[in-house]
Amino acid sequence: MMGIILLGPPGAGKGTQAKRISAAFSIPQISTGDMLREAVKNGTEMGRLAKTYMDQGGLVPDEVVIGIVRDRLQAPDCGKGFILDGFPRTIPQAEALDRVTAALAKEIRTVLSLEVDEKELMERLCGRRTCTACGAMYHVRFNPPKAEGKCDKCGSSLIQRDDDKEETILARLVNYRKSTEPLIRYYKGTGKIRSVRASGDIDAIYADIVKILQ
Ligand code: ADP
Ligand code: ADP
Ligand code: ZN
Repeated sequence: MMGIILLGPPGAGKGTQAKRISAAFSIPQISTGDMLREAVKNGTEMGRLAKTYMDQGGLVPDEVVIGIVRDRLQAPDCGKGFILDGFPRTIPQAEALDRVTAALAKEIRTVLSLEVDEKELMERLCGRRTCTACGAMYHVRFNPPKAEGKCDKCGSSLIQRDDDKEETILARLVNYRKSTEPLIRYYKGTGKIRSVRASGDIDAIYADIVKILQ
């Protein structure tokens, strides 16, 4: 069972690396951020609730995201493994995940802790662009698309996320430090955590991750 958690601050490269790991190991990327944005787009009741937190750079309540992940982990494509990208983000979420995986006879094998200097995160998030159709991620300077504003993979247009503006990013970084960073200690206690230097070349970081996972 290849259960993987990608832990790291906003902008650490979780989504970028999760997409590669998912393709290489044929296991699904489970991004709570993507699932919440999908719910917002579909205008569901949950989406409307989540949006009020996401717009402020706050965390969506634990019970909401725990419910999403619990349902998602039961899908047949999670049989071989899965990559959790952006979940858990709080200690109660991590505790709930322990209960859910035990109940479903699944197991977290590795927690990858992506480490990036704080000052780099703001620049990464301000320049992030996302494909409206396939979700591929780019950066205006660090990982530009071949044609400006267009996705390399599917040709659709790229947008800047609503919450990738300076004041919202600052709030997200504060919440990361307060609520999510304590998970590093939580997972140190399990012996499953591996830290990954996540600055520099995207391919080189991915190669380090593959070495850890193999
Ligand atoms: P997260 O999912 O952790 O918030 P992303 O994968 O969306 O992070 O990456 C945030 C931004 O930084 C994106 O614009 C992405 O293209 C860019 N990025 C990802 N990895 C690197 C890297 N190693 N160096 C520079 N920029 C990067
Ligand atoms: P990033 O990695 O760039 O911070 P995500 O796409 O993972 O962004 O998340 C976007 C927003 O969705 C978060 O700022 C938060 O409001 C909400 N969110 C995503 N995952 C969770 C989670 N596990 N718990 C609470 N809120 C979440
Ligand atoms: Zn695309």
